[in-house]
Amino acid sequence: MAMEIKDLTNKQVINFMEYLGSDLSPKSNDKQLIFNTCLCHNGDSYKLFYYTENKTFHCYSSCGHIGSLIDLLIHINKYEFKDAVSEIKDFFDISNQPMLRKGFRVKKKVKQDDIKDIQIELLPTPKKPYVYKTFQQVPIKEWELENISFEVLKAYQIYYNPYENQIIIPHFCWHDKERPVGIRVRNLDEDKAKNFGKYIPLWYDNKCYNHRLSLNLYGLNINKEIIKKCKKVIVFEGEKSVLQMATIYKNNPSIAICGSNFSREQKKILIDLGIKELIIAFDRQFKIEGDEEYITWRNKIYKSVQDIKDKISISVIWDKDNLLEYKDSPSDSGKHVFEKLLKNRIDIDSLMKS
Ligand SMILES: [Zn+2]
Repeated sequence: MAMEIKDLTNKQVINFMEYLGSDLSPKSNDKQLIFNTCLCHNGDSYKLFYYTENKTFHCYSSCGHIGSLIDLLIHINKYEFKDAVSEIKDFFDISNQPMLRKGFRVKKKVKQDDIKDIQIELLPTPKKPYVYKTFQQVPIKEWELENISFEVLKAYQIYYNPYENQIIIPHFCWHDKERPVGIRVRNLDEDKAKNFGKYIPLWYDNKCYNHRLSLNLYGLNINKEIIKKCKKVIVFEGEKSVLQMATIYKNNPSIAICGSNFSREQKKILIDLGIKELIIAFDRQFKIEGDEEYITWRNKIYKSVQDIKDKISISVIWDKDNLLEYKDSPSDSGKHVFEKLLKNRIDIDSLMKS
């Protein structure tokens, strides 16, 4: 029988919540997943609980009982029930076909839209969008050590907050390049990173500057023209990789999807630029070739681009020669290693044979 929304695993729920823009508290456990309330009521604390046993959400700050994941989506987006269901199903690629309802099989064929028919909504501008400029524009030692130059920090308008020891990373709209849509931070304090996450939305003046990561591409505001010109794009997971690439190359055709979920909207934005080749440069999310994590990671990457592989050529940077450490990005070890990885990249169809 087909998988249904009620069968989602905890990991899938976490993925979906990240896609909506909420971070998981490390205090979560098997019984309860705890998320930030910036999602449900624009709050600022980890009080949105998901109870894994009965799969329901409860906000202990202001919303109270919310219900299922579908109810949560209705709660935050004021969606109709069917729209909430279809967004979740689209995200997980759950087939709409065989559904058991009241004992009989309802045959309902819902074909996934062709990528060219997808409409992309532009993200709103947060209130006080330029608040990041109140921080300091200074060289950041931690990132200098990771091969990100001060010149690049300035070009990408990266700031630093010494009081919180946070790097401030504004995200600009992929379409109107001057317009901020959200602000994220990199917590440099070990403690903060452990308790709240390494990369989280900025909290400032009781306001959360989160945005839906899946509806934007980090770095496209700066790199759009070069991507259009060379007709290829290098897709990284994290912002830091785009900045490392910018430090190495003057012409930098890279962007970050901010996570590992490559959304249909993000793919559509890239295809509309007229690219011929898309190069996946995700982190090395496996320890040894052939282990369980390796297989899962490989399959996830392969699956994530099936809807566009007839439209453009797709290749993958796949670290067969163990040039990277576990969880490293292909840009983490500098120019030489990156170029070796790039040169040895493989076609998406060869990925399943590796
Ligand atoms: Zn709430």
